[in-house]
Amino acid sequence: MKIAFIGLGNMGGSMAQNLLKAGQTVLGYDLSEKALQQFSESGGIVCDSPQAAAEQADVVISMLPAAKHVRDVYLSETGILAVMRAGSLCIDSSTIDPQTIKDVAAEGLKHQVQVCDAPVSGGTIGAKAGTLTFMVGADDVTYERVQPILSFMGKNTVHCGAVGAGQIAKICNNMILGISMAAVAEGMALGSRLGIDTHALAGVINSSSGRCWSSEICNPWPDISPNAPAGRGYTDGFASQLMLKDLGLAIEAAGQVKQPVLLGGLAQQLYQQLCLQGNAHLDFSSIIQQYLPREN
Ligand code: NAD
Repeated sequence: MKIAFIGLGNMGGSMAQNLLKAGQTVLGYDLSEKALQQFSESGGIVCDSPQAAAEQADVVISMLPAAKHVRDVYLSETGILAVMRAGSLCIDSSTIDPQTIKDVAAEGLKHQVQVCDAPVSGGTIGAKAGTLTFMVGADDVTYERVQPILSFMGKNTVHCGAVGAGQIAKICNNMILGISMAAVAEGMALGSRLGIDTHALAGVINSSSGRCWSSEICNPWPDISPNAPAGRGYTDGFASQLMLKDLGLAIEAAGQVKQPVLLGGLAQQLYQQLCLQGNAHLDFSSIIQQYLPREN
């Protein structure tokens, strides 16, 4: 099977490497020379456009920054759908709005190309380790086709429903995550200010009803959760700017169906402020800095 991989950045580069390690033939394209060089050094076949990669492939996987890049790669004048063979398959793993992937899938059908969404959780560490979780939006037959391919890059795949359902699951989950991280940061900062030992407080939260992933696995207070970004200056985690992006997608989708997301909106403003203060590349648990006294 020949797989074309479009978007070989922090996530896509590692995902493509895992396909290569699994013995697949992988053709790749990215705008970045550096990304292409790393891909080539790992045994990938570099192509000089998305179309050149896609026209030879049975399956295309894309991992792009945002919806405009996905529209460009799939639907523009130089888009890949126009050159793909009938019966081939596209898997978009970028985090984008649900409507864009539905539009791409509808266009795909005109070319007899199946398109599905499979956004991920697990971040760059999961991408490297091949332990990502894929949230798949596809019909049953397409899901059966994509599942074995995704298993080369992840340890879990969840069939969320029809095309677009993977993106819906992703943005709802990440909205909850953004809110819960801010809530844990607020609680930890308040406890510290009131004078409780933060380890004692975290111990109570994590054996009580406040317990969640943000309190237990990725506590924003340093040295509570082993291996959490808080213990290494909030580096090497899920960047605040990506959390801000995902909250924006959730709010945009909520607006389309006139659904209130009050806490999501507040969280978006908190992460926006965090990013504006120069923390865009730090892990989103650095939101706790919004609640701590300034040193100067
Ligand atoms: P990235 O910026 O590191 O990689 C994106 C790559 O796409 C870049 O190398 C860029 O050059 C390339 N690109 C842009 N336009 C292109 C085009 N027209 N043709 C070919 N290549 C093009 O981003 P990333 O961190 O790898 O994230 C990719 C996607 O995964 C995003 O949608 C992001 O929201 C999502 N995601 C990221 C993480 C994470 O922790 N980084 C976690 C979950 C989901």
